[in-house]
Amino acid sequence: MFKSYRLFDIHGIPIKVHGSLPLFLILAGLLINLGGGVSGFLLTVLLWTLAFGCVLLHELGHALAARHYGIPVREITLYPIGGVAALAYMPKNWRREFVIAIAGPAVNFALAGLFALTYFLVPGALLGWLIAINLGLALFNLIPGFPMDGGRILRALLARRRSYFRATKIAVDVGRNVAIGMGALGFLSIFMPLASPMLLPISIFIYFAAKAELTRVALEERLGHADPLTSFFFPDAGSPSGRGTAYRESEAPRVFTWTFRNEVPTSTPRGDGRIIDL
Ligand code: ZN
Repeated sequence: MFKSYRLFDIHGIPIKVHGSLPLFLILAGLLINLGGGVSGFLLTVLLWTLAFGCVLLHELGHALAARHYGIPVREITLYPIGGVAALAYMPKNWRREFVIAIAGPAVNFALAGLFALTYFLVPGALLGWLIAINLGLALFNLIPGFPMDGGRILRALLARRRSYFRATKIAVDVGRNVAIGMGALGFLSIFMPLASPMLLPISIFIYFAAKAELTRVALEERLGHADPLTSFFFPDAGSPSGRGTAYRESEAPRVFTWTFRNEVPTSTPRGDGRIIDL
């Protein structure tokens, strides 16, 4: 329904805004309206815009860390539920994944520290808001709900002493339990003031993204290739076999078919070598 719009580039990385974000800002301004009236509306929109500015800096942290390791960054997109830095792939080297994952929250911790320091010199409500937003962003993203930053950090640390697949399996299981807890909290928040009901859609996203990551890693393992898959799909998760498209940086997209059980491929995917027209 909504397209993403390119605003500007930072270090050659296109910065995009999803079309629903301005609508979300206007809605937030109307519903929250701090102080009331037109000035209250404008103040609320300004504060939320600043919050998304902090999300953008968080994503830039990931993006520039990835660039440092030579991983191409396609774009950064801001959505109402957060930002996405589209990396060409996540490195399998645990140290690199650890650094890229922690770079985002680290930016927010640094910003919170910087704003706190300024707050001591010139106290103000706006600085207080910026400190709270940055601490909130850093801590929320460190929750080990794969594929959030905390989940990636967990997998990286687990992969030090385990196979990449085992580490992913554990991180995904932890992430799913976190998602279930988060979903329950989000659901209850509709009826009582516990947390944000926004946790409900976020938890559903985490649950299914975790599942997709496990399948991707298992497929990669089966395909036995040094390069990571950049993306794949399987149209019917309920069927015992899947047809996937594997995209890699180093070669043209190929079609693979495989069978799987409990989301993990049980047969070696066979590529027919057909090149797909994109
Ligand atoms: Zn992040």
